[in-house]
Amino acid sequence: MTGRVHDAADVFEKNGAGTMIEVEIVELNDEKAKLILKSTNNAFVNSLRRIMLSEVPTIAIDEVNIYDNTSVLFDEQIALRLALIPLKTDMESYNLPDECSCNREGCTLCQVSLTLSAEGPKIVYSEDLISTDPKILPADPKIPIIELKDGQKLFLEAIARPGLGKNHAKWQAGVACGYKNMPMIAITGCDQCNACITECSQKILKPQGNTIVVIDPFKCTLCRLCEDACDVNAIKVEEDEKTAIFNFETDGSYTAQELLLQATNILQRKANALKDTLQTLQ
Ligand code: SF4
Ligand code: SF4
Ligand SMILES: [Zn+2]
Repeated sequence: MTGRVHDAADVFEKNGAGTMIEVEIVELNDEKAKLILKSTNNAFVNSLRRIMLSEVPTIAIDEVNIYDNTSVLFDEQIALRLALIPLKTDMESYNLPDECSCNREGCTLCQVSLTLSAEGPKIVYSEDLISTDPKILPADPKIPIIELKDGQKLFLEAIARPGLGKNHAKWQAGVACGYKNMPMIAITGCDQCNACITECSQKILKPQGNTIVVIDPFKCTLCRLCEDACDVNAIKVEEDEKTAIFNFETDGSYTAQELLLQATNILQRKANALKDTLQTLQ
């Protein structure tokens, strides 16, 4: 679902004050989302953002056995490129190695093997990786790995494992996660000098009748240059600290909806663990 959609309000969690956080979906597709979180605070939204970056497990290539490499790149460079290819992740079927019953020996529950066998001339793409698990595949089949010239060969096995973004960026599910408070722009007593319109880099102010209107408050960067430009103090820009515009993208290991659900579940688990610990202290 793309475009601006303002009818999908949902209520999904209680905050500490006992009020419900309301979620309005402005944009949601497989790769990214824009949400408006109401009746919340910056601490909650920032926790969600940080969990998306560092605590949602993904599967990424963690070890590479190279059997033949006559390409122009060193083995280490190829391993680095492979590690940064996002893989579609299914954590229902896999354990983090530290939590697996094999005690980090490596088993079918904590690792998956992908093989690559290619000979030039050709460009080797992520789709050339053959996985033993059809659910664990490169999120984008057309990520170039290397160009092999005539007669050059690359033959390897890559071992992918679940991990967390806080340990290495290759396991970072959320990218470009950020938020800002909802801008609130009030205009009273405007004398239509248009100075604020010229000053606004986002071009969201426009004349209408005998005043100025805001055509897209989401785009406001809260820079307040319009206030500075106004000699009669007719425009006032404030932030609604209980409402956040929250944007995030995924690296492809999850859809945006899956990533959000994973992050909220992890945040809820952490909050419950903290609550349990505090109750033992009473
Ligand atoms: S605060 Fe900045 S971005 Fe927002 S309306 Fe004023 S000039 Fe434009
Ligand atoms: S700068 Fe002030 S007076 Fe001039 S158009 Fe903007 S709000 Fe109106
Ligand atoms: Zn295992």
